[in-house]
Amino acid sequence: MNKEELKKIKEKALEEHIPIIMDDTLEVVDGILNELKPKRILEIGTAVGYSAICFSEYLQEDGKIDTIERDEERIKEAKENIKKVEVEEKINILEGDAVEILPTLQGKYDMVFIDAAKGKYPFFLQQALRMLNKNGVILADNILYKGYVMSDYNKHKQRTAVRNLREYIAEVTNNPNLETQILEVGDGLAISKFIL
Ligand code: SAH
Ligand code: MG
Repeated sequence: MNKEELKKIKEKALEEHIPIIMDDTLEVVDGILNELKPKRILEIGTAVGYSAICFSEYLQEDGKIDTIERDEERIKEAKENIKKVEVEEKINILEGDAVEILPTLQGKYDMVFIDAAKGKYPFFLQQALRMLNKNGVILADNILYKGYVMSDYNKHKQRTAVRNLREYIAEVTNNPNLETQILEVGDGLAISKFIL
């Protein structure tokens, strides 16, 4: 992995206000991946490939990441970035809307990283649960959404997103097969371990 290139990719994304994973969130995910040593990761929301590239370091030898993105320009840039850091063998971009792509996937994953449309988090969870390996983990980024999720503020124009993020939290918390932690790193990270 070319770290110099990775640094450039990160700086460019930040300059362009692309919502890439924040440093403190990444630190937590790194810790999880270090322990998990995953073979297969599913990511929902590639953007320009930054998080997928970071995660690819923790894959087992022949491990792979499937990552879904619907924005054509970002897909193009993600492909270039993945090439630059020389991890093309490890990252597979699935192009299109995750709502349509997810139900067509048949594989099993050790980790699912949810980082796309907030209004779809409950649906993404349902799909992640269907494909999660035993001892796998589901992560949901931006789960606290600037604090809106934990406040009684519900007149914001993003109220549908907030309602769905709250529903996500309720579902992972009430699911007896999951052990969930919500961390205040970055924009909030939900970590749900499949303990069945
Ligand atoms: N995981 C990235 C950041 C993702 S930002 C990183 O940390 O580096 C969220 C991305 O999800 C955006 O690029 C957006 O285009 C994409 N997205 C949002 N909803 C989507 C959907 N329903 N299907 C596919 N991609 C989606
Ligand atoms: Mg995010």
